Amino acid sequence: MDTLFSGACVLTMEPGSPVLRNAFVGVTDGKISCVGTQPPAQAAKTVIPCEGKLLMPGLVNAHTHTAMTILRGYADDDTLQDWLFKKVFPVEARFTPRTARAGALLAIAEMLRFGVTSLTCMDPFIPDIAQACLESGINANIGNGYLCTDPEKYDFASDGVTRQNMEMLQRFHMADNGRIRLDASVHAEYTSFGRVWSDAARFALDNGLNMHVHLSETEREHKECIERWGKTPAAILDAHGLFGTRTTAAHAVWVSDEDMELLARRGAAVAHNPASNMKLGSGAARIADMRAKGLHVALGTDSACSSNDLDLFWAMRLCLLLQKGLSRNPACAPAEQAVRSATLDGAWAQGRDGECGMVRQGMWADLILLDLDAPHLTPVHDVYSLLCYSARGSDVCLTMVRGKTLYRSGEWLTIDWERLKAELNGFVMPHVFGA
Ligand SMILES: [Zn+2]
Repeated sequence: MDTLFSGACVLTMEPGSPVLRNAFVGVTDGKISCVGTQPPAQAAKTVIPCEGKLLMPGLVNAHTHTAMTILRGYADDDTLQDWLFKKVFPVEARFTPRTARAGALLAIAEMLRFGVTSLTCMDPFIPDIAQACLESGINANIGNGYLCTDPEKYDFASDGVTRQNMEMLQRFHMADNGRIRLDASVHAEYTSFGRVWSDAARFALDNGLNMHVHLSETEREHKECIERWGKTPAAILDAHGLFGTRTTAAHAVWVSDEDMELLARRGAAVAHNPASNMKLGSGAARIADMRAKGLHVALGTDSACSSNDLDLFWAMRLCLLLQKGLSRNPACAPAEQAVRSATLDGAWAQGRDGECGMVRQGMWADLILLDLDAPHLTPVHDVYSLLCYSARGSDVCLTMVRGKTLYRSGEWLTIDWERLKAELNGFVMPHVFGA
């Protein structure tokens, strides 16, 4: 046995018996090798004493844009249309592989610090982002969304996204035993057209890839799509086969009841990004209704340019508060569901169900430890309530992916934080924003 977590309060996410007190979790060869309340007979190379700490599955950030982390605080008071077309796209045009890699590392450092063990990223420069994810040790589903509004200029075979996807398939897809994965991706209905969707859907199917798309994020997007095509974004994308493989539909703020039923039938997951949706004034997704229709609802932060941090504890809290406030029914959103969204449903959205998202023997040891020795985490009546309404990312004191500790008590073991800061301040920020 490589590592033994000893004497922890363990949130397993197992159905029926989710919380074990004073428990032991062993890790061997990257996987969870034992879980129980009795110390294992086998000795461990490293024992981590966990009195006063909570061990749980690592969190999944099911929708983000890692390179954009350098745009934190860059545009705070715009609608999505202005934010995207007037602020983000012009500055993103100055991004390079080097700036994207540094932005991605910054995002990964923040996420590891806040207990995220797996991320889904839509970004240009995916090979550079994949390299950063590979080196840092985090799990990642990575895709570059097709983005083309001019049918005259579009050719699937020569499109830059296709070329990157081919490179990703050769170099990174399923690297390190499936830790790094390529997702097929379309940016959104309003930034592309039918042939793009059919081609991307076929590419996903041919290569056994998940799909990742922004869907019905704003009322304007949803209504203009109906004016353009006579169908909702979900219906028109479905007509082109886009949900033919497991799909993460990011946002889904304005989807209709029929759209929700369609997404549930197709086995799609929704990535709910409450902070970004509130900040851009997009509205609030109807998560309780989605769950009632059998949809998997994962949680995301979206980019640090629209949510300003990558803290999924905050996303869990906001998700619950929004549902309760909107419906004026405090019973509609139990805390356990938000924790499920951030763990099991996130793993499901990524196609990693059965591999992680639980503390269960045989699963990858994607684990986080929270230090409960703090006034704002005392007392503990209910672990789910504590995680959603009281805890924050900064309460995480250890983040492990596949048995490897990547963050521990203020230190990153695979990211040189001082060097990254020097790269950001010395090269990246002057290059993108001018000296
Ligand atoms: Zn997004």
